[in-house]
Amino acid sequence: EEVRLRLNVDVTVSPNSLPAPAPIESFVDMNLCASIMKDIAFHGYTTPTSIQAQAMPVALSGRDLLGCAETGSGKTAAFTIPMIQHCLAQPPVRRGDGPLALVLAPTRELAQQIEKEVKAFGRSLDSFKTAIVVGGTNISEQRSELRAGVNIVVATPGRFIDHLQQGNTSLSRISFVVLDEADRMLDMGFELQIREVMQNLPEKHQTLLFSATMPVEIEELAQEYLTNPVRVKVGKVSS
Ligand code: ADP
Ligand code: MG
Repeated sequence: EEVRLRLNVDVTVSPNSLPAPAPIESFVDMNLCASIMKDIAFHGYTTPTSIQAQAMPVALSGRDLLGCAETGSGKTAAFTIPMIQHCLAQPPVRRGDGPLALVLAPTRELAQQIEKEVKAFGRSLDSFKTAIVVGGTNISEQRSELRAGVNIVVATPGRFIDHLQQGNTSLSRISFVVLDEADRMLDMGFELQIREVMQNLPEKHQTLLFSATMPVEIEELAQEYLTNPVRVKVGKVSS
Protein backbone atom coordinates (compact mmCIF):
# COMPACT_ATOMS: atom_id res chain seq x y z
CA GLU A 1 0.00 0.00 0.00
CA GLU A 2 2.84 2.33 0.94
CA VAL A 3 4.57 1.57 -2.37
CA ARG A 4 1.43 2.11 -4.42
CA LEU A 5 0.88 5.43 -2.76
CA ARG A 6 4.41 6.48 -3.46
CA LEU A 7 4.09 5.64 -7.13
CA ASN A 8 1.13 7.97 -7.35
CA VAL A 9 2.99 10.90 -5.92
CA ASP A 10 4.65 13.44 -8.16
CA VAL A 11 8.32 13.48 -7.34
CA THR A 12 10.15 16.75 -7.67
CA VAL A 13 13.91 16.71 -7.53
CA SER A 14 15.16 20.12 -6.56
CA PRO A 15 17.95 21.39 -8.80
CA ASN A 16 20.45 21.62 -5.98
CA SER A 17 20.06 18.01 -5.01
CA LEU A 18 21.53 16.83 -8.31
CA PRO A 19 25.22 16.30 -7.64
CA ALA A 20 27.56 18.32 -9.85
CA PRO A 21 30.32 16.52 -11.74
CA ALA A 22 33.63 16.84 -9.88
CA PRO A 23 36.37 19.16 -11.16
CA ILE A 24 39.07 17.55 -13.31
CA GLU A 25 42.57 18.96 -13.04
CA SER A 26 43.99 17.53 -16.25
CA PHE A 27 42.84 17.66 -19.89
CA VAL A 28 43.95 14.03 -20.24
CA ASP A 29 41.33 12.90 -17.72
CA MET A 30 38.44 14.67 -19.46
CA ASN A 31 37.75 11.95 -22.03
CA LEU A 32 38.18 14.31 -24.95
CA CYS A 33 38.53 12.92 -28.44
CA ALA A 34 42.04 12.47 -29.81
CA SER A 35 41.87 15.27 -32.37
CA ILE A 36 40.85 17.80 -29.72
CA MET A 37 43.63 16.60 -27.39
CA LYS A 38 46.11 17.11 -30.21
CA ASP A 39 44.79 20.60 -30.91
CA ILE A 40 44.90 21.58 -27.23
CA ALA A 41 48.56 20.60 -27.12
CA PHE A 42 49.26 22.43 -30.39
CA HIS A 43 47.57 25.52 -28.96
CA GLY A 44 49.99 25.36 -26.02
CA TYR A 45 47.56 24.63 -23.22
CA THR A 46 48.99 22.07 -20.81
CA THR A 47 46.85 22.47 -17.68
CA PRO A 48 43.23 23.58 -17.30
CA THR A 49 42.63 26.88 -15.52
CA SER A 50 40.31 26.78 -12.45
CA ILE A 51 37.21 27.66 -14.43
CA GLN A 52 38.13 25.06 -17.06
CA ALA A 53 38.75 22.36 -14.42
CA GLN A 54 35.34 23.08 -12.95
CA ALA A 55 33.19 23.99 -15.93
CA MET A 56 34.42 21.52 -18.54
CA PRO A 57 33.31 18.34 -16.70
CA VAL A 58 29.87 19.92 -16.22
CA ALA A 59 29.58 20.96 -19.87
CA LEU A 60 30.87 17.57 -21.07
CA SER A 61 28.30 15.80 -18.89
CA GLY A 62 25.47 17.53 -20.75
CA ARG A 63 24.32 19.65 -17.80
CA ASP A 64 23.39 23.31 -18.06
CA LEU A 65 25.93 25.65 -16.53
CA LEU A 66 25.89 29.07 -14.96
CA GLY A 67 29.52 30.14 -15.01
CA CYS A 68 30.83 33.14 -13.23
CA ALA A 69 34.45 34.12 -13.48
CA GLU A 70 36.49 37.24 -14.02
CA THR A 71 38.03 38.25 -17.33
CA GLY A 72 41.16 36.38 -18.28
CA SER A 73 40.26 33.20 -16.44
CA GLY A 74 39.99 31.05 -19.57
CA LYS A 75 36.26 30.87 -20.12
CA THR A 76 36.53 30.62 -23.92
CA ALA A 77 38.20 27.21 -23.95
CA ALA A 78 35.94 26.14 -21.08
CA PHE A 79 33.00 26.24 -23.49
CA THR A 80 34.57 25.86 -26.95
CA ILE A 81 36.16 22.47 -26.21
CA PRO A 82 32.97 20.83 -24.84
CA MET A 83 31.00 22.46 -27.68
CA ILE A 84 33.24 20.91 -30.34
CA GLN A 85 33.14 17.52 -28.62
CA HIS A 86 29.32 17.82 -28.51
CA CYS A 87 29.12 18.61 -32.23
CA LEU A 88 31.31 15.63 -33.10
CA ALA A 89 28.68 13.35 -31.59
CA GLN A 90 25.94 14.74 -33.89
CA PRO A 91 25.00 13.62 -37.40
CA PRO A 92 27.03 15.37 -40.13
CA VAL A 93 25.93 18.80 -41.34
CA ARG A 94 24.69 19.03 -44.92
CA ARG A 95 24.04 21.93 -47.26
CA GLY A 96 21.03 23.92 -46.06
CA ASP A 97 21.22 22.59 -42.50
CA GLY A 98 21.10 24.99 -39.58
CA PRO A 99 23.97 24.93 -37.06
CA LEU A 100 24.34 22.41 -34.21
CA ALA A 101 25.77 24.94 -31.79
CA LEU A 102 25.44 28.67 -31.29
CA VAL A 103 27.57 31.11 -29.30
CA LEU A 104 26.17 34.58 -28.68
CA ALA A 105 28.63 37.26 -27.61
CA PRO A 106 28.23 41.02 -27.06
CA THR A 107 30.73 42.41 -29.59
CA ARG A 108 32.29 41.71 -32.92
CA GLU A 109 35.79 41.63 -31.39
CA LEU A 110 34.77 39.10 -28.78
CA ALA A 111 33.03 36.95 -31.40
CA GLN A 112 36.21 37.01 -33.47
CA GLN A 113 38.30 35.85 -30.49
CA ILE A 114 35.86 33.03 -29.83
CA GLU A 115 35.85 31.97 -33.48
CA LYS A 116 39.65 31.84 -33.40
CA GLU A 117 39.56 29.52 -30.44
CA VAL A 118 36.87 27.32 -32.02
CA LYS A 119 39.08 27.03 -35.09
CA ALA A 120 42.13 26.26 -32.95
CA PHE A 121 40.48 23.37 -31.15
CA GLY A 122 38.80 22.11 -34.32
CA ARG A 123 41.97 22.42 -36.36
CA SER A 124 42.35 18.69 -37.04
CA LEU A 125 38.74 18.24 -38.11
CA ASP A 126 38.63 19.05 -41.81
CA SER A 127 34.86 18.71 -42.28
CA PHE A 128 34.15 20.96 -39.33
CA LYS A 129 32.81 24.39 -40.31
CA THR A 130 32.33 27.52 -38.22
CA ALA A 131 30.68 30.76 -39.31
CA ILE A 132 31.09 34.13 -37.69
CA VAL A 133 28.02 36.33 -37.93
CA VAL A 134 28.60 39.89 -36.73
CA GLY A 135 27.51 43.36 -37.72
CA GLY A 136 29.62 45.72 -39.78
CA THR A 137 30.61 43.06 -42.28
CA ASN A 138 29.20 41.82 -45.56
CA ILE A 139 25.85 40.15 -44.91
CA SER A 140 25.64 38.29 -48.22
CA GLU A 141 28.93 36.46 -47.62
CA GLN A 142 27.60 35.40 -44.24
CA ARG A 143 24.37 34.31 -45.90
CA SER A 144 26.08 31.95 -48.32
CA GLU A 145 28.32 30.59 -45.59
CA LEU A 146 25.28 29.88 -43.40
CA ARG A 147 23.30 28.34 -46.25
CA ALA A 148 26.16 26.02 -47.11
CA GLY A 149 25.68 24.43 -43.66
CA VAL A 150 27.89 24.94 -40.63
CA ASN A 151 28.49 23.11 -37.36
CA ILE A 152 28.95 26.17 -35.19
CA VAL A 153 27.85 29.79 -35.44
CA VAL A 154 29.53 32.47 -33.35
CA ALA A 155 27.42 35.60 -33.48
CA THR A 156 26.39 38.91 -32.05
CA PRO A 157 22.65 38.79 -31.25
CA GLY A 158 21.47 41.56 -33.60
CA ARG A 159 23.06 40.18 -36.75
CA PHE A 160 22.09 36.61 -35.91
CA ILE A 161 18.40 37.63 -35.61
CA ASP A 162 18.68 39.44 -38.97
CA HIS A 163 19.78 36.17 -40.59
CA LEU A 164 17.03 34.19 -38.86
CA GLN A 165 14.41 36.66 -40.10
CA GLN A 166 15.78 36.49 -43.63
CA GLY A 167 15.60 32.70 -43.52
CA ASN A 168 19.36 32.31 -43.99
CA THR A 169 19.70 29.99 -41.03
CA SER A 170 17.50 28.28 -38.47
CA LEU A 171 17.39 27.21 -34.85
CA SER A 172 15.93 23.81 -35.68
CA ARG A 173 19.09 21.72 -35.19
CA ILE A 174 20.70 23.67 -32.35
CA SER A 175 21.37 21.50 -29.31
CA PHE A 176 24.15 23.50 -27.64
CA VAL A 177 23.98 27.22 -26.81
CA VAL A 178 26.48 29.50 -25.12
CA LEU A 179 25.67 32.97 -23.86
CA ASP A 180 29.10 34.52 -23.32
CA GLU A 181 29.50 37.73 -21.31
CA ALA A 182 25.75 37.69 -20.76
CA ASP A 183 25.90 40.72 -18.43
CA ARG A 184 27.49 42.80 -21.19
CA MET A 185 24.93 41.58 -23.72
CA LEU A 186 22.16 42.84 -21.44
CA ASP A 187 24.00 46.14 -20.87
CA MET A 188 24.16 46.57 -24.64
CA GLY A 189 20.42 46.09 -24.99
CA PHE A 190 20.35 42.58 -26.48
CA GLU A 191 17.83 41.13 -24.03
CA LEU A 192 15.00 40.81 -26.57
CA GLN A 193 17.24 39.16 -29.15
CA ILE A 194 18.55 36.69 -26.57
CA ARG A 195 15.01 35.84 -25.52
CA GLU A 196 13.92 35.47 -29.14
CA VAL A 197 16.61 32.82 -29.61
CA MET A 198 16.16 31.04 -26.28
CA GLN A 199 12.37 30.79 -26.65
CA ASN A 200 12.52 29.21 -30.06
CA LEU A 201 15.18 26.55 -29.56
CA PRO A 202 14.33 22.87 -29.96
CA GLU A 203 13.15 21.30 -26.72
CA LYS A 204 16.31 19.29 -26.18
CA HIS A 205 19.33 21.53 -25.84
CA GLN A 206 22.13 22.33 -23.43
CA THR A 207 22.81 25.90 -22.34
CA LEU A 208 25.94 27.44 -20.86
CA LEU A 209 25.67 30.98 -19.55
CA PHE A 210 28.80 32.91 -18.64
CA SER A 211 28.85 36.26 -16.93
CA ALA A 212 31.47 38.28 -15.09
CA THR A 213 28.85 39.67 -12.73
CA MET A 214 25.60 38.24 -11.38
CA PRO A 215 23.01 41.04 -11.28
CA VAL A 216 19.37 40.05 -10.79
CA GLU A 217 18.71 40.34 -14.54
CA ILE A 218 21.19 37.51 -15.15
CA GLU A 219 19.71 35.43 -12.32
CA GLU A 220 16.29 35.88 -13.94
CA LEU A 221 17.58 34.90 -17.36
CA ALA A 222 19.19 31.81 -15.87
CA GLN A 223 16.05 30.99 -13.93
CA GLU A 224 14.02 31.19 -17.10
CA TYR A 225 16.22 29.42 -19.62
CA LEU A 226 18.56 27.05 -17.77
CA THR A 227 17.46 23.64 -16.54
CA ASN A 228 18.93 22.46 -13.22
CA PRO A 229 22.12 24.39 -13.89
CA VAL A 230 25.36 23.72 -12.10
CA ARG A 231 26.75 26.96 -10.76
CA VAL A 232 30.45 27.44 -11.11
CA LYS A 233 31.99 30.50 -9.58
CA VAL A 234 35.65 31.37 -9.64
CA GLY A 235 37.21 34.35 -7.90
CA LYS A 236 35.42 37.42 -6.64
CA VAL A 237 32.11 37.99 -8.38
CA SER A 238 29.98 41.02 -7.69
CA SER A 239 26.26 41.29 -8.18
P1 ADP B 1 38.06 34.93 -20.36
O1 ADP B 1 37.08 34.61 -21.45
O2 ADP B 1 37.72 34.27 -19.07
O3 ADP B 1 38.26 36.39 -20.20
P2 ADP B 1 40.02 33.84 -22.15
O4 ADP B 1 39.36 32.59 -22.56
O5 ADP B 1 40.00 34.97 -23.13
O6 ADP B 1 39.47 34.34 -20.75
O7 ADP B 1 41.53 33.46 -21.76
C1 ADP B 1 42.43 34.43 -21.27
C2 ADP B 1 43.86 34.10 -21.72
O8 ADP B 1 44.30 32.89 -21.11
C3 ADP B 1 43.95 33.85 -23.22
O9 ADP B 1 45.15 34.43 -23.69
C4 ADP B 1 44.02 32.35 -23.33
O10 ADP B 1 44.70 31.93 -24.50
C5 ADP B 1 44.76 31.96 -22.08
N1 ADP B 1 44.41 30.59 -21.61
C6 ADP B 1 43.17 30.10 -21.42
N2 ADP B 1 43.20 28.84 -20.95
C7 ADP B 1 44.50 28.50 -20.85
C8 ADP B 1 45.20 27.31 -20.43
N3 ADP B 1 44.54 26.24 -20.01
N4 ADP B 1 46.54 27.33 -20.47
C9 ADP B 1 47.20 28.43 -20.87
N5 ADP B 1 46.63 29.59 -21.29
C10 ADP B 1 45.29 29.64 -21.27
MG1 MG C 1 35.72 35.66 -22.46
